[in-house]
Amino acid sequence: MIESRIAAEQLQRLSGLDFFPKEKPAQKELRLAIEVANTEGIAERIISDWLRYNTGSPKPSELRRLFYDENERHKQHLAECGECGGSGYITIHKLVTYYGKSFRIKRAETIGSDERGIAERIASQPLGDDHQQVLSAAMECSCRKVVAASA
Ligand SMILES: [Zn+2]
Repeated sequence: MIESRIAAEQLQRLSGLDFFPKEKPAQKELRLAIEVANTEGIAERIISDWLRYNTGSPKPSELRRLFYDENERHKQHLAECGECGGSGYITIHKLVTYYGKSFRIKRAETIGSDERGIAERIASQPLGDDHQQVLSAAMECSCRKVVAASA
């Protein structure tokens, strides 16, 4: 189960599709179906896949079935991948250095999750004129390809 707030964000992504319900109670049913997802990553992936292949809004029952299947696959996957905890994504952080106050990137260094605090402190106390920022990005875990292939 994921938080209602997260599910609502994913629901919004479907709102441009044909036959997306205009009535609040029907929208709520769709949101509840999205909440079935075990993780945010699963919700994100299923909704992205739906948007990629469909022009019409899903029915709550269709979403539930997709999430049950994906949750099951996720559970099996959890036992296998220690890298991403089964989400299929790993979060990486980069310390980015820009030229002066511009947004032209001078240097980007990948930092370990345990170094994040240090990197943020460095970024908040720039040396010289260049400014720095810690950015995070989701990267597909290498195990994802394996999962997709076995789907
Ligand atoms: Zn993985």
